[in-house]
Amino acid sequence: MPSAYFDNNGTTQMLPQVLEAMRPFLGESFGNPSSVYARGREARAAVEAARESVAHLLGCAAREVVFTSGGTEADNAAIVGMVAAGDHVITSTIEHDAVLNCCAYLKRMGVAITAVPVNRQGRVDPDGVRAALRPETRLISVMLANNETGVLQPLEEIGRIAADADVWFHTDAVQAAGKIPISVDRIGCDLLAISGHKLHGPQGIGALYVRRNTPLRPIIHGGHQERGHRAGTENVPAIVGLGKAAELAAAGLADGTLDRIRTWRDRFEAQVLERVESTEVNGAGAPRVPNTSNIFFEYILGEALVVALDRHGIAASAGSACSAGSGEPSHVLAAMGLGATRARSSVRFSLGKLNSEADVEYLMSVLPGAVRDLREASPLYRRT
Ligand code: PLP
Repeated sequence: MPSAYFDNNGTTQMLPQVLEAMRPFLGESFGNPSSVYARGREARAAVEAARESVAHLLGCAAREVVFTSGGTEADNAAIVGMVAAGDHVITSTIEHDAVLNCCAYLKRMGVAITAVPVNRQGRVDPDGVRAALRPETRLISVMLANNETGVLQPLEEIGRIAADADVWFHTDAVQAAGKIPISVDRIGCDLLAISGHKLHGPQGIGALYVRRNTPLRPIIHGGHQERGHRAGTENVPAIVGLGKAAELAAAGLADGTLDRIRTWRDRFEAQVLERVESTEVNGAGAPRVPNTSNIFFEYILGEALVVALDRHGIAASAGSACSAGSGEPSHVLAAMGLGATRARSSVRFSLGKLNSEADVEYLMSVLPGAVRDLREASPLYRRT
């Protein structure tokens, strides 16, 4: 049976070059980067080369990159490490759970939280952020690209608001890194989180950009690794993998790979809207990352469509991977005011570098029929 993977916002396959770069560090090159002898120095050099690659992708200095165990830890390190009881944090209603649940935890610890709403396209209104500022506001945390819709947030404006108000600014760029060019200076952020497995690197590794002189307190206490920002022996193979993935991500942004993905995504959306009645693209009209398509299929359950596609070897997602199985409609689509029914009837297709045009053609050879079959079985559809 043919198969096609369209859940690259859930996780991505490692590129072969990433695996190759990691291989020695899973075997003979097993040194601890803190050791002073040759094997240790070899590991240290590999970690520092990876740091350079990540810094290049983000437009920052290598010494501003801290390796973490993933996007979730990078977000937690940034947010928890910047605030204390009595402070106020501004975030948005469409953040990933890594930020939302971190804020919920802080709220229990006496930190005030304001989650600013988004419009129907899934964009935060910078004026809403400005209006939420208080004298005790310490941190603004707004994501760069949403994981479910791919909608890009107006971070440069929010960055200016943060700078004017003298408030620290964190962004979760997990779903943007490798998909659009990123410059921490253009965004004006002090902290920025990325994750290896969303950009064809390994799972369980991420990085946090920490602007020089940002008073970040560590959330993990122990040794002095990562210049005191993150204790614990470095995950050398994964760091090397992230470094290679970052290098390839930068190359993909420069060589037109992402433009090709955008063309396929746009063509896919146009074909769905034309060939499958009662469909709409969630977040359409807003600026989006090039790989993500979140589509509303009226009268059917998104989860049922995901299962039907899976029977044809096609992977897509209803809601984010983290909330899958919770039975809850997407908080992102709900925050966009699209209603629980529409949220339950939406499916995300996310492309990656390993997709081909043939994958999209295969998807389009299956999708209209799968939707039709589900609709025909749906009492909702027959009544209309
Ligand atoms: N932030 C966003 C926007 C994400 O999409 C994800 C993963 O789905 C995370 C954070 C968490 O990253 P990780 O899986 O590396 O912990």
